[in-house]
Amino acid sequence: MKNPNPAFGAQLEPFHGIPSFMRLPVSRELKGVEVAIAGIPFDSGTSFRSGARFGPRAIRQASLLLWGYNAVQKVAPLDQLSVMDYGDLEVIPVDIRTSNAGIQKQAGEVLAQGVTLIALGGDHSVSLPLLRAHAARYGPLAVLHLDSHPDTWQEEFSGQPYSHGTSFRRAIEENLIDVQAYLQVGIRGPTSEAHDLDEARGLGARILTSDQVYELGIPAVLESIRQVCAGRPLYVSLDIDCMDPAFAPGTGTPEVGGLTSRQVLQLVRGLKGLNLVGFDLVEVCPTYDPGEITAILAANLVFEFLSLLALKKMG
Ligand code: MN
Ligand code: MN
Repeated sequence: MKNPNPAFGAQLEPFHGIPSFMRLPVSRELKGVEVAIAGIPFDSGTSFRSGARFGPRAIRQASLLLWGYNAVQKVAPLDQLSVMDYGDLEVIPVDIRTSNAGIQKQAGEVLAQGVTLIALGGDHSVSLPLLRAHAARYGPLAVLHLDSHPDTWQEEFSGQPYSHGTSFRRAIEENLIDVQAYLQVGIRGPTSEAHDLDEARGLGARILTSDQVYELGIPAVLESIRQVCAGRPLYVSLDIDCMDPAFAPGTGTPEVGGLTSRQVLQLVRGLKGLNLVGFDLVEVCPTYDPGEITAILAANLVFEFLSLLALKKMG
């Protein structure tokens, strides 16, 4: 087996060099590449604590200690897949519409080359242009949305259709999501109105609250996911605030009573066998992340997703 992590090797310890994701080559040349990892350092859709624009950098930094072999899934993803760090997509912090258009275009260019995109946010507003790009390629998507918030508000700020709390409302309106196969997992916390969750359900979202996840257990959650998503192109959008703040304090709008690291690893690993076509991990905010707790988890979740893509390729 070749060295499963380019960040390791004789005289190449993980604290040396420039921290691309797992110290992969950084390039926009995608010939022969199967997976591109791109940062989207945009946080102007944030409603409370901003700073997720620094998320991609923190996740890359934390990725350097990923050893390369996934002992649970029994795969070394970088041995199986040609993976590139694509750098960061271009965004304009004062203009969400122009940024959305740019993210959609740049993501579309990656997908058009047959490359799977793993996107590191940024706040959750970036998922809308990502869903637009993926739906343009695959049609309406099955979506697994891990979050403490439904992100289905009509408006978060008066007269403003775009923010990190409205992305999935817009995505449903634009028919980017197949609402027959749309699951929200981890939802909890005080809402602004009594009907917030019913409104999300009314739009088609199936909600498994954080309490239900605890009561049912992850295997039952995975069974629900499989029932509605099997065989369809599945996009996974993981807002790190699906996690309990004890496991992921570094985020803009934390809610208590969320998933544990163990639960989310079990959940993501259990997606093996599904037709995964895209993944974003958003809302990592390093300013509030003592000890890199959140960034380390995020880097490991990207590694788990890479492992799923490797297993998918191996059949
Ligand atoms: Mn969200
Ligand atoms: Mn959230």
